Amino acid sequence: MLKVCKFGGSSLASGESFEKVKKIIDADKSRMVVVVSAPGKRFKDDIKVTDLLYICHAHIKYSVPFTDIFEQIKERYRLIHKSCGLTQDIEYEFDKIASSLNKKTSVDYIVSRGEYLNARLMAEYLGFAFVDSASWLVFNFNGKVDFERSYKNLSKIIEENPRVVIPGFYGATPDGNIKTFSRGGSDITGAIAAAAINADMYENWTDVSGIMTADPRIVDNPRPIENVTFAELRELSYMGADVLHEETVFPVRQKSIPLYIKNTNDMNARGTLIMESFPDDEDKNSHFITGISGKKNFSIITIAKSRMNDEIGYVRRTLEVFERFQVPIEHIPSSIDSFSVVVASSHVENCMHEIISALNDAVNPDSIKIDNEISLIAIVGRKLASNIGIAGKIFTALGENDINIKMIEQGADEINIIIGVSDRNFKKTIKVLYDLSEVEQ
Ligand code: ASP
Repeated sequence: MLKVCKFGGSSLASGESFEKVKKIIDADKSRMVVVVSAPGKRFKDDIKVTDLLYICHAHIKYSVPFTDIFEQIKERYRLIHKSCGLTQDIEYEFDKIASSLNKKTSVDYIVSRGEYLNARLMAEYLGFAFVDSASWLVFNFNGKVDFERSYKNLSKIIEENPRVVIPGFYGATPDGNIKTFSRGGSDITGAIAAAAINADMYENWTDVSGIMTADPRIVDNPRPIENVTFAELRELSYMGADVLHEETVFPVRQKSIPLYIKNTNDMNARGTLIMESFPDDEDKNSHFITGISGKKNFSIITIAKSRMNDEIGYVRRTLEVFERFQVPIEHIPSSIDSFSVVVASSHVENCMHEIISALNDAVNPDSIKIDNEISLIAIVGRKLASNIGIAGKIFTALGENDINIKMIEQGADEINIIIGVSDRNFKKTIKVLYDLSEVEQ
């Protein structure tokens, strides 16, 4: 058994959190590859080291002295170094970085040092080898990861040294320049490492006990989801559930590696397991609604024309208008003589008049109706497809709570139902659906 464990910034913010990580690693000998973020926030108004590094870069770029900000960064690591009783010469590492800082230093190099330094400290603390991600994670010159080469590089390293700590968030281009992922990218490093060495599991350790059934800012103490499929996760994340960096899933999904979201502050909590599918017996106890997520501020543009169904190319010409205005389309619910185009309001607010006039020219509709301030809410569940009557229960519950449904859509794979409600009913709808998800099994 071989597990890759990635720890997020909130799990690595102080010496105390380092201790928790060590306990987790020591508790299971199969946790051999550890991927770390940079130190995150220790308290609400604290600043993440990565953010400090971005500020540091801005100082250098605009020739503002950066010693103070760099000093703050050093202090974060010194505190961890001291509290964990480490002996490595961290000041030497700081000096090496400081001496390389000038106007030409790339932002990617500067911000990657957050992970680099944290991995150095964690490696000593765990007694594992440090492996610089610049030595194995290869980016092509087009900015995309060279998976094949990266996999080969890391598996060779792990063959020689199975217990390692790897900095997340960055790799290097073939000419040796540091390149980072977008923010939150250590999740991706962990996934690539897991795929590279064909790990049995990828554990993503964070500060919550898994993915919640609904947003905890809306529902009090929502239940963590036990099992979720990759497809369900995609629906939930797309509709606003903030879980993993969206590029994380690909490498582990491709290699069918189970992914766990676990809580560093509660190591024995089960967390959420993400897999391609679940065997029937494991699925018996899971709820019909796996999760609920949603976003506000959409517009529904409804185009009506009698006998529209006879006019070949009507929908295409309509959609071309949206394409011309570079407006991404979220959904297209339709009936016989009308259909609607659902878009994020932010994409049309500055060009709505022009779009309407272009639609009139392109498809000459009988009417165009616009509904703004619409929330889209996704009710996601792999068991929705096999359960007769769940849609009825959803609509009954919403009706009983005086929530008017403005749009309904179900994906062809039947793992989600998306409803549109007025923004003012956003929270209420999620609460009602959450209550329903608790009772429906
Ligand atoms: N430290 C980086 C960030 O804050 C990457 C990560 O934590 O995943 O975005």
